[in-house]
Amino acid sequence: MVPGVRLVVLGKQGAGKGTQCVRLSHHYVVPHVSTGDMLRAAVKLGTPLGLRAQEFMDRGDLLSDGLIMEMVGERLSESDTRARGFILDGCPRTTAQAEQLEELLHPDRLDLVVDLEVPTALAMRRLASRRVCIDCGENYSVSNPPTVNWTCDICGGEVVQRADDTEAAILHRLDLYERQTAPLIAWYEKKGQLTRINGAGSAVVVERRAVRVVEEARQRRHPSGDLWDHR
Ligand code: AMP
Repeated sequence: MVPGVRLVVLGKQGAGKGTQCVRLSHHYVVPHVSTGDMLRAAVKLGTPLGLRAQEFMDRGDLLSDGLIMEMVGERLSESDTRARGFILDGCPRTTAQAEQLEELLHPDRLDLVVDLEVPTALAMRRLASRRVCIDCGENYSVSNPPTVNWTCDICGGEVVQRADDTEAAILHRLDLYERQTAPLIAWYEKKGQLTRINGAGSAVVVERRAVRVVEEARQRRHPSGDLWDHR
C-alpha cells in the first residue's frame, strides 16, 4: 500500500481545498480531517460545541484557537490518524493554531504544507456555484450536479448551498483569510515546509500537481525511501 502522509492543505475559500483533500485522502488512504465538516456535523447534531459554533460559522467568523485545537487534538490522537497520518483541511487558520499543531505532533512533523493558489475572481466564481452534501460533505457545483435531483451520489444526502456561501459571508471569509490565514504561508515557508501549487484547472490535474510535490518533499526528507510510517 502507498505510505501514509501528514499533510496540511492551505488555500483561500474557493481554491478547491475540500475537493483536493478528499482526493488526496483516497490517494494516500488516510483520513480527511476537515474542521469545517466536524463543526457542521456538531451543528447538525446540536451538541454543545455545535450550538456555540453555529453563529460564528453563519457570520463567517473564526472560532477560538483553543476550541479548535482541542477538537483537532482529539481527532489526531485516534488510532487511524496515528497509524497512517491525515489530510488536514481548514486548520491551521492562524499562526497560533500552527504552533499548537506543531506541539501536538511533536516529535513527529508534517510531511508538507501545500498551498493551493487561485486568483480571487476564480475563487468567488467557484464559491457562488458551490453545492455540498449536508450529510457527507461531498462537493458539487451548479455545473457539476449530482446525477439525481440534488441527492448526493455517494450517500444519498441532500445537496444544498452552504448557509455561509452568501456573498456577504464569502467576502468576509476572504478578507479574514488575507488577514489571518495568509500570514501562515510565510510562517511555513520560513520553516521550509511549504510548497505552492497552481489550483486552477481540473480536479484531476490539480491532484497530480499535489501528489508530485508531496513525493518530491518526501524524497528530499527521506532520500533512502525510509518513510515515517515504516518505523
Ligand atoms: P470551512 O468549511 O473550512 O470553510 O469552515 C467553515 C467555518 O468553520 C469557518 O468559517 C469558521 O467559522 C469555522 N472554522 C473551521 N475551521 C476553523 C479553524 N481552524 N479556526 C477557526 N474557525 C474555524
